[in-house]
Amino acid sequence: MKYCSHCGSTVTVTIPEGDNRPRHVCSSVSCGIIHYQNPNIVAGCLIEHGDRLLLCRRAIEPRYGLWTLPAGFLENGESVEEGARRETREEACAEVEILQLFTIFSLTHINQVYMMFRARLHEPLFSPGEESLDVRLFDESEIPWTELAFPVMNQTLRHYFEDRSKGEFNTHIGAVRAVGEGAGRRIEVEMLQRGDV
Ligand code: ZN
Repeated sequence: MKYCSHCGSTVTVTIPEGDNRPRHVCSSVSCGIIHYQNPNIVAGCLIEHGDRLLLCRRAIEPRYGLWTLPAGFLENGESVEEGARRETREEACAEVEILQLFTIFSLTHINQVYMMFRARLHEPLFSPGEESLDVRLFDESEIPWTELAFPVMNQTLRHYFEDRSKGEFNTHIGAVRAVGEGAGRRIEVEMLQRGDV
């Protein structure tokens, strides 16, 4: 950020009084606004229909052509569950009933928080929205594990099948981090365990 989006003056990076980390601060005395940058929330749905789950094949970058669960950035004025349902409507043309919050992942390397809800289809009606090439129901044996778009979706599906085999769905909280550089860069997942503080 070079210029203040509020008044157009230049912006400097400095630690404001009473704060403890560098912020983009407007240099204008009459404005002086602090432009805080915080993580964005992504809301989405893991949708059941009988024994099968609904996946969308992406028609947009990044990860064009790979499979994902319907999800996207929350809009202002929207609750997370409304955002999850809207994204499902946009990407899969489906109406769903939210059952529970299923996974929360903090992606600290890209400043995003994913909140995925377990949901079920009202009716077996769905079709590709503008951002999808295809929308299909998969049973466990058909999940395209090597063609999933994002580690978060991979994790969410793994927890789902694990919980389903135990006959009890819980809420899973974790952090997904990118570790290392270049070719050695890898994704690490750390789940909050029961009893952690
Ligand atoms: Zn300003």
